[in-house]
Amino acid sequence: MAPLKKQTRNPKSVRTCLIANAQLPTRWGRFRVLGFQSGDGAESAVALVMGRPARARAPLLRIHSQCLTGDVFSSSRCDCGWQLQTALKRIARQKCGILIYHLQEGRGIGLLNKLQAYELQDHGSDTVEANEKLGFEADQRNYDICADILHLLAVRSVSLLSNNPEKFLALVQRHIRVVKRVPLEMPVSKMTQKYLTTKKEKLGHLLGRIA
Ligand SMILES: [Zn+2]
Repeated sequence: MAPLKKQTRNPKSVRTCLIANAQLPTRWGRFRVLGFQSGDGAESAVALVMGRPARARAPLLRIHSQCLTGDVFSSSRCDCGWQLQTALKRIARQKCGILIYHLQEGRGIGLLNKLQAYELQDHGSDTVEANEKLGFEADQRNYDICADILHLLAVRSVSLLSNNPEKFLALVQRHIRVVKRVPLEMPVSKMTQKYLTTKKEKLGHLLGRIA
């Protein structure tokens, strides 16, 4: 990718700064890992970048919201770990793309609240009901920092790896062109059936494998 200077500010978006830019060799190939911080210091995010996405017509983009249990511990409660690894693999296969690791755990409610929501789910609530019982909205994520990162990377058009129409809308509203959506659907298992059905029926996710 083209070199970026630390503390770079984009004239269209003064909220987010590049803090670090380093190599990150992985099992899927060599990425660069970029660290970003919002202008008020309240939020940080990480982007893994391969190739030169600013020069591509519509590079692959995955906005992956943090899921400690799925991403690190390979939890079968959700599809996050599978989606993370599959997205990195697909970007590596194309030798170009961006994965933004969005540090808004548990759809924005935070790690410990998410674990409390798991406890409610163990007693019968679905993911949306559990968040609501804890006093949160079904999905509290905000995508401002993701759009800022794309503007800083000079990426205006993307192919979005996602099943979530909210991410599509969030990017379009923030002046990023989504040329196409690339589905990221894991095979349905007994463990993920209810979780994925709730995503489809209550959150509008585009999941062709769920009846
Ligand atoms: Zn998850």
